[in-house]
Amino acid sequence: MYLNGMAASGKLASFRLPPLPTVSELIKLYNLRAEKQLSQNFLLDLRLTDKLVRQAGNLNNAHVCEVGPGPGGLTRSILNAGATDLLVVEKDSRFIPGLKLLSEAAPGRLRIVHGDILTYRMDRGFPGSISRPWEEDPPNLHIIGNLPFSVSTPLIISWLENIAKRTGPFAYGRTRLTLTFQKEVAERLTASTKSKQRSRLSIMAQYLCTVHHRFTIPGRAFVPKPEVDVGVVHFTPLVQPLIQQPFKLVEKVVRNIFQFRRKRCHRGIGMLFPEACRDALTEELMCKADVEPTLRPTELSIPHFKALADVYAHMCSREPLLLGYNFREELRLKHLAKRRGMQTNMPQAMPPSPEQPN
Ligand code: SAM
Repeated sequence: MYLNGMAASGKLASFRLPPLPTVSELIKLYNLRAEKQLSQNFLLDLRLTDKLVRQAGNLNNAHVCEVGPGPGGLTRSILNAGATDLLVVEKDSRFIPGLKLLSEAAPGRLRIVHGDILTYRMDRGFPGSISRPWEEDPPNLHIIGNLPFSVSTPLIISWLENIAKRTGPFAYGRTRLTLTFQKEVAERLTASTKSKQRSRLSIMAQYLCTVHHRFTIPGRAFVPKPEVDVGVVHFTPLVQPLIQQPFKLVEKVVRNIFQFRRKRCHRGIGMLFPEACRDALTEELMCKADVEPTLRPTELSIPHFKALADVYAHMCSREPLLLGYNFREELRLKHLAKRRGMQTNMPQAMPPSPEQPN
C-alpha cells in the first residue's frame, strides 16, 4: 500500500533535509521501542548511516529502495545523498508516522510502502523508463538496507535467484545492492577459495555478482546492541554469470558439495547420485569435470564449480531422472522400510522430487 504519491523527478544535487527531530527524538516521540523478537537494532549515528550509504556509490538523482527503514536514520542519509525517488518498505506499522514526517520534509521524494519485503513486487515499484539493458551499465536504481539477520540471508538468496533469472528488482537491469549482514555471513559471502569461511553462500553470490565486504560496524553502534558485529556488503550483478546453468541446478550441486565441508569433495558430489550407481557416476563426473576428488569443498574455485555444474547438467540431460534425485528422500525411504520391517529393496530408478530446476 502506498502512503503517498510517486516521486517527481527532482534536480536536487546537494539537498539537505530541513531541521527535523533527531532519530532518537522520533523514537521517543512515537514510543518506538525496538522489538527484540523482530531483531530490531537501530543505527542512530548519522555519520555511520552516511558512510553506509556512500558504499552504494553516487546517489544523485537516483531511484532507491530501502528495505526496513524503521525510525529512518538510513533513510535520511539516502535523501541527503541526493536520491530523488526513495521507496521504503517497512513491515512494522509503528514506524509509518515517523516516516511520513520525513516524507513531508522531502516533498515528492519519499514513497512509503507498509509491507513485507519478502513478498513485495519490486518489479512494479519503479518506472520502466529507468531500465537498462543487462549488458550495459547498471540502472540508476539501488537497493539499500539494514535488515534483521533473519531476513537478510533468505532475502539475498531469493535476490540471487532473481539475478539469475533477471526478474524482480533485476527486471530493470543489473541493480546494485548495499546490505548489512551478521559479520560472519558477510565474510562467507565474500570468502575466497581456500579461506575458512568459504561456503555455499560464497559460491552462489560470487558466480552471479561482484561482491565486496566494504566495512564492519561494531555491534555497539546499534541500539539496542546486538550480540554480533555487522558487515556492509555491496553486490553488483555480473554481465555474464560465471556458471551458465539454471540457478536451481547450481544450487543443488553447491549444496551437496558443502554438506560435507570437512570431507573430500567427492563425498558430497556422490550424494547427487542414487546409491546403486553412486560410485560410477561420481567418478564419471569428477573425471569429466577434471576435478581432483581429494580437494576439500573449501578448496574448489568457481571454475571447478562451473565444470562440475556443466558436466552434471549434461548427465541430467542424458538421464533426466537424475535431476529430481534427492539423497535425503532415498534415506527417508530406507528408514521407512526399516521401520516397517520390510526388505530394503530400494528402487533402482530415482524417485521423482518436487525440486526441479527451472
Ligand atoms: N533501517 C533502520 C536502521 O538502520 O536503524 C532499522 C533497522 S532494523 C535492524 C530492521 C528494520 O526492518 C525494522 O524497522 C523492521 O521492522 C524492518 N523489517 C523487518 N522485517 C521486515 C520485512 N520482512 N519487510 C520489511 N521490513 C522489515
